[in-house]
Amino acid sequence: MFDAKLLANEGVRNLQPYQAGKPIEELERELGITGIVKLASNENPLGLSSEVRTALQETLSGLSRYPDANGFYLKSKLAKKFALKADQITLGNGSNDVLELLARTFVSAEHEVIFSQHAFVVYPLVTQAIGAKGVAVPAHEYGHDLTAMLAAITANTRMIFIANPNNPTGTFLTTEQLQRFIEQVPEHVLVVLDEAYSEYVAENERAPSFEWVASYPNLIVTRTFSKAYGLAGLRAGYAVSQPEIADLMNRARQPFNMNSLSLRAAEVALDDDDYLQQSVAVNAAGMEQLIAFCDEARLAYIPSHGNFLTIEVGENAGQLYQQLLHEGVIVRPVAGYELPHHLRVSIGLPEENAAFIQAMKKLLGA
Ligand SMILES: *Cc1c(COP(=O)(O)O)cnc(C)c1O
Repeated sequence: MFDAKLLANEGVRNLQPYQAGKPIEELERELGITGIVKLASNENPLGLSSEVRTALQETLSGLSRYPDANGFYLKSKLAKKFALKADQITLGNGSNDVLELLARTFVSAEHEVIFSQHAFVVYPLVTQAIGAKGVAVPAHEYGHDLTAMLAAITANTRMIFIANPNNPTGTFLTTEQLQRFIEQVPEHVLVVLDEAYSEYVAENERAPSFEWVASYPNLIVTRTFSKAYGLAGLRAGYAVSQPEIADLMNRARQPFNMNSLSLRAAEVALDDDDYLQQSVAVNAAGMEQLIAFCDEARLAYIPSHGNFLTIEVGENAGQLYQQLLHEGVIVRPVAGYELPHHLRVSIGLPEENAAFIQAMKKLLGA
């Protein structure tokens, strides 16, 4: 009998598909209610800026043409803004694309890939899809244990993923901790520093990671337009590396991995400092709002440097998630990240955070 599973490569056969946050439309259909608040996917609650909207409208007329395969304008803008050379930049269909591209370019089945317990699920996913061995290093206070990660390096290790801040814990490594770590990683191991939430970190606390790329040839930094820049639905992200690494990734890349709309939107978003500042300000205020609630309700939480807060709600986290759905609030269960007693709540607009808080108070009987 035909069994497609037997034909699939072993890594893929054993994969669990990525669990995305529940879409608003799906919950509306299921429950027959409207006005649902989604705080499940760390999306930007501000929506698109009017500048991005206009740019998207203007791009529509060219959509029968293929996109610019090299993303010339976006790379030029990124290079100018961050004092890089364009040939250090690899664009992707979201940074997820770039993370996968890195794994496909550099990792083979005989290699080991190191990441932290409770780290972003895409790292084990892309590792396993290749058939390589994922090494999850136990976390320290929910965050990366860099000493243990160094100790986990073997002759077969090819890549280490580090998310800073990390998702879903929000934990953060200081510049000193990171630099000491990178200095000790041998050159046969590539360090992928995933800075998807970098813009939410105070400027004086951010590592000069793009500058480090010049001194540490085995370092690759990834960023995204999905979070603080508010373009999650368009899919735009990039990696910064030495040109040699970018050149290799470019060989394995789909020629048109970024579409015309996302290229144009990312160019415009990159110039919009007001939007970025507003994103950060709304996030800081919302974080305070959620933390005040947690303190009042005596709920522990993992201090977060991202645009989300992971709250310890106890053994009934799964049930509470379901109950919240019925109250019209979508959050994210994180049992799949070995955090079965927590829920991750993305920071929304003040009224969205208030809806979550109100639902929690009702359900917790506070
Ligand atoms: C959201 C997120 C990303 C970004 O994903 P995109 O593909 O760019 O939307 C990357 N890394 C981490 C840790 C994230 O949480």
